[in-house]
Formats: sequence, C-alpha cells, structure tokens
Amino acid sequence: MNAPRLDIDLDKLHHNASELVIRLGARGIAVTGVTKATLGSPEIAATLLRAGVASLGDSRIENVDRMRRAHINAFMHLIRSPMPSQADHVVRLADTSFNTELAVIRQLSLSATRARVRHGIVLMVELGDLREGIMPVDLDAMVRAVLQLPNITLQGIGTNLACHSGVSPDANNMAELSALANAIETSFGISLELVSGGNSANLDWALGNNDVGRINHLRLGEAILLGCEPLHRTIITGLHTDAITLVAEVIEAKTKPSQSRGTIAQTAFGTKPVVATLKESLRAILAVGCQDVDPAGLTAASGTRVLGASGDHLVVNVDSGSVDVGDEMRFGLNYSALTRAMTSSFVHKETLCTPSAVQTVAGENQPTVV
Ligand SMILES: *Cc1c(COP(=O)(O)O)cnc(C)c1O
Repeated sequence: MNAPRLDIDLDKLHHNASELVIRLGARGIAVTGVTKATLGSPEIAATLLRAGVASLGDSRIENVDRMRRAHINAFMHLIRSPMPSQADHVVRLADTSFNTELAVIRQLSLSATRARVRHGIVLMVELGDLREGIMPVDLDAMVRAVLQLPNITLQGIGTNLACHSGVSPDANNMAELSALANAIETSFGISLELVSGGNSANLDWALGNNDVGRINHLRLGEAILLGCEPLHRTIITGLHTDAITLVAEVIEAKTKPSQSRGTIAQTAFGTKPVVATLKESLRAILAVGCQDVDPAGLTAASGTRVLGASGDHLVVNVDSGSVDVGDEMRFGLNYSALTRAMTSSFVHKETLCTPSAVQTVAGENQPTVV
C-alpha cells in the first residue's frame, strides 16, 4: 500500500455521523456535515449524507465545486464569508453562504441576479469569540438592508464560538441567539428557517439538559471525523476516534544516543531542540514530516513516542518492541494534524468500507454529464 497515507474508515464515519444526527434530532437540532477538513471528499460527503445529515457545509468554494462535480446531490452551505471576487462562483455552486458584510451580500445579489438564481444568506452574529460576526446592535439594520436585495433570501442567523478565543457555547450566549432570532421575526414579520448555534464545540450544550430555545441547527466537522468535542477534546461517548488514522513507513531504524552533539542553534522549523533524558534508544525515522502533518497532533501507538519532525522526517522513539526499515507505523490525529495531512498531496487517502457501501457516488474523475 502507498505510504504515507490516511486510512479513512467510512463505516466508522457513518456511525459517528448517524449517532450525532439521531441524538441531536431528539433535541430538534438538524446537522450540517462540515467537509472542509476532508477538502470536500465526495466519498466522505456521500457517507455523511447516507448517515442522515440534512446538508453539507464547507468553508472553501473549491471544495463545494469538487463535490458538485462528483454529483453529490445535497443542499450546500458556504460557511465562510465569501470573497467578493468569488461571488459568481458562490451563487452558482452554493445554496447559501454565511455572511457578515453588506458589501459582500450586495455582490452576491448582483451575481445571483445575473445568474437568475436565488441565493440564501445566513447572517453570522458575534457573541463573544471575536472571529466572524455582526455586532448584535447592528443586526437589525443589516437584516433590513438584506431583505431589500434582489435574488437574496434571508435563510437565518447563526454564530460561531470557540474557534478563535475558546469561548464556550453556553445557556447565556445560546439564549442570546434565540432572543435575536425572535426579535428579528417580530420586527420584520418574517420567519427564520435556520438558527445555527455553532460547531462541534456546541455539543456539550446541545446534548445537555438545557432548553435549546430557537437553536435548530449545528455544523459539525471534528465531532464526526474524530469523535471528540473541541472544547476539552473529550471523547464523545459511543463515537469512534480512529475513523481516520495516519500510516507512515520507516526509512531508518537505529539505536542512537539521546543527546545531540555539537553547538546547539535553531532546528529546521525554528523550535527549540528536544532535550533528552535517556541514555541510548531505538529510534525510527519515518518518511513523513511537517510538510504533511502537524507532528504535535499525532498520537503514537503504545510503546512508541513522537520525538519531533522536520520538513519530511518524523523521529519516533521505540521504547519497547522492535522496528525494521520498511515497517509501517500507525498514528492517531488531532484536528490540526488531520487538516494538514488531508491537504498534503504527498499523503495518499485510502477509503475503507464494507462492500455494500461502495460506489454510491460517481468518481470525481469521470466526465461530467451535462
Ligand atoms: C469549521 C467550521 C465549522 C465546523 O467546526 P468543527 O469544530 O469542525 O465542528 C462550523 N462552522 C464554521 C463557521 C466553521 O468555520
């Protein structure tokens, strides 16, 4: 098999997505499966849809395009505010986009009018995390302006917490979003289809005993792909944390002193070199590096430890057992390691699944039938 590679177990991903869809469904919350960490992989997207997600979301229009070309038939949200220069693509490829700037929405309106389509808008509200979002005091004026734009439908409002400042979704900020939704509906006499509470960081809140209020939607990536929630990185009960693993190949295995020799300056990536405590140990070098993966986000199998990495060498200490050149080693990944490995063209992606689940999607390299 090719190395390095990500082994992607579609059955486990299906299980994770389906569990979350069922548990959140019982609370009146629909799930958008977020595909950005997979670069819009059509096989993964199809798996999430089979598991019952209501729609797909991605932050990059190129990924949405990839899924459309592979004939993934789903409602798709662009979950990052569009670049104005991409407005034409956005209205053609995505059903809705998440927005915070009137200038961008005006551009989308012009593009949608030209393309003779309607484009949905979800207005993102700033509730404390200080990444994207309209300040709550400015929301009314924004809604008023958006409602006047041709070929634009206001689909709902949403918020994003935890990603930038680590602000936890809780009863207060979720109640604030619900109150904003109610206020908009009353002031403008409209009904908002989506009140989107957030990402995987909302699961503690959403699956707790709180009243969910008006929140009827979450956007989930990490929880489905890695089986954990991002606030404390705790495992979500009943979910697989090894649906995606990294496999790399050993290109050197030698016993070496643990103390480096010579005058110590910076390492390849500017970090401080590892200071050793052991005398001598068996070290494996694997053909994968910082260019392909975030080494700090790898979990090694028991009996082995990741010591560090440079651009294309991963250094692993073998505390127990043996290792030979040509052996493969398997690692768990966190979100950072996963996104980088998915993005590296040097890392092969191998999807595994039971035969009944295969080939529900046309291969993306097949010609598009118009
Ligand atoms: C990435 C992203 C998500 C998904 O986040 P996860 O933590 O992977 O669930 C949801 N919403 C927005 C706006 C995002 O950018």
